[in-house]
Amino acid sequence: MQQYPDWIWHNGSIKRWQDATTHVMAHGLHYGSSVFEGIRCYETPDGPAIFRLTDHNRRLYASARIYDMALPYDLDTLNAACHEVIARNGLTRAYLRPFAWRGLGGFGLSADTPIEMSVATWFMGPYLGEAALETGIDACVSSWQRFAPNTIPAGAKAGGNYLSGQLIAREARRLGFGEGIALASTGLLSEGAGENLFLVFDGALHTTPVSAALLNGITRNTIITLARENGIEVVERDLPREYLYLCDELFMCGTAAEITPIRSVDGRQVGAGRPGPVTRRIQDLFFGLFDGRTQDTHGWLEPLQG
Ligand code: PMP
Repeated sequence: MQQYPDWIWHNGSIKRWQDATTHVMAHGLHYGSSVFEGIRCYETPDGPAIFRLTDHNRRLYASARIYDMALPYDLDTLNAACHEVIARNGLTRAYLRPFAWRGLGGFGLSADTPIEMSVATWFMGPYLGEAALETGIDACVSSWQRFAPNTIPAGAKAGGNYLSGQLIAREARRLGFGEGIALASTGLLSEGAGENLFLVFDGALHTTPVSAALLNGITRNTIITLARENGIEVVERDLPREYLYLCDELFMCGTAAEITPIRSVDGRQVGAGRPGPVTRRIQDLFFGLFDGRTQDTHGWLEPLQG
């Protein structure tokens, strides 16, 4: 059974988990009008630290701006709430979920309802399973495409977008795959259900561009930055589906999935069928941020306060 933490931040204060309720007629529940973030807090040699908290929360405000939602609390208040809720629950290794949604206040699609905000946190290990980080997963290309850029903006991390992610992920699991990869409406590669994609050709990283209906991931940006700083070439470019079958290595990344190698796509083995040297190097650089092997030169680790 799911174990819930004791405390949650809701509309400006810390409350008991069971007391953080919203009305069943909240706009967000009916129309998908919510925005959210997923952030991890890691145990580091210098104590627990929230990884790129401010960058994630800035993206939350950007998502809200796209949907014309004026959030009732500012960035500093939200950052403080994130620290407070982790500390209050006595967690050190945790997943954080700040979110905002249109609440109760009218029935129309364009109703300017009051906006509620919350921050939840809980313990979370590797999203696709402990073994996935080591051995990789089997993925498939989904029969569902991502939305066209003139329909729903993929650059907003909004609740409604995740109807697409659910179709892709649930289809993949139903067919026995670890995760699904979607094509954009152009027919070119987009991203995973909840992860960005990297392909390796001749030692260089190739990743799909933000114009390919994907979320501009903070893990993606971390990898691009670390790779370039360590002499690994990174190319952002349109990629056709068949390159999944031709690349030397393949992995997906995201806050939840971290860096998960992909060992096969649509039943075709990728490279040697196990995580290759570039994937391993990127994993080392990334996880090294949390065990001290990689220097945090960008101030990405925000030490847990409270
Ligand atoms: N794409 C989608 C659709 C996602 O939901 C996520 C997870 N937030 C990502 C990519 C990866 O983004 P990030 O690295 O910022 O977690």
